[in-house]
Amino acid sequence: ALNVSALTKRFPGATALDDVYLDIAEGEIVALIGPSGCGKSTLLRCLTWLEQPDDGFIAVAGRPFGREIGRDGTIRRQTRREIDALRPKIGLVFQQLNLWPHMTALENVVRPQMVVLGRPRAEATRRAEELLGQLGLADRAGRHPHALSGGQRQRVAIARALAMEPALMLFDEPTSALDPELVGEVLGVLRALAAGGMTMLVVTHEIGFAANVADRIAFMDRGRIIEEGPARDLIAAPKSPRLRSFLDLVL
Ligand code: ATP
Ligand code: MG
Repeated sequence: ALNVSALTKRFPGATALDDVYLDIAEGEIVALIGPSGCGKSTLLRCLTWLEQPDDGFIAVAGRPFGREIGRDGTIRRQTRREIDALRPKIGLVFQQLNLWPHMTALENVVRPQMVVLGRPRAEATRRAEELLGQLGLADRAGRHPHALSGGQRQRVAIARALAMEPALMLFDEPTSALDPELVGEVLGVLRALAAGGMTMLVVTHEIGFAANVADRIAFMDRGRIIEEGPARDLIAAPKSPRLRSFLDLVL
């Protein structure tokens, strides 16, 4: 589960996140939609502490992440070590593929398990083969990223994130860099993860996917989540004028 409260991030000249509140229950899938520049990627980056939020609190599986309120009531920033220890609990898959080009698909999934989790190679290899198999890549494990299709590469990136045994998966437009005919295979993987009970926050332009797979949709505009609700309701009956005009553009 994920709890976000009062999250704020300012850049010079732009407030990218302006008091964001978001709760995702265990096993829930939330789709995050909103116009370009509204702060979606910044939110995901702050949730993994790749970007340090200026204010606010994050809790992952009930544990404060990044910043916490101490016993004396003061706000304490966690140490780098505390942050690094919790970060693997949050899997992040970007739009841009970021596999190591000089390693095979298998090695891309094996290596972080050894480095981050300290798993022995044999165990990491077993887990990697299992995940690549589940994602339909058993016969591609020995290939390097350049010899895979975009959809296959994105599935390797998902396998690599899942190998960390995350409590939560974040996806930032995982299909937007793909040719249309490859979008379906990655959305299929997200569907399967949803069916398996993974907790997920998915930034997406695929409104059909959001409507069919997400439990809830959150609509972000100018750094704030201004409307959220059950996916079908929100699309069928948007309340705010800004969501209405956004849906008019994308539907
Ligand atoms: P898109 O749909 O185009 O990916 P987005 O919703 O992901 O957009 P963000 O990338 O989160 O939007 O950007 C939110 C705002 O913060 C924008 O105004 C952007 O210009 C600004 N911003 C993001 N990163 C930085 C940065 N490193 N320095 C300064 N401003 C930034
Ligand atoms: Mg973005």
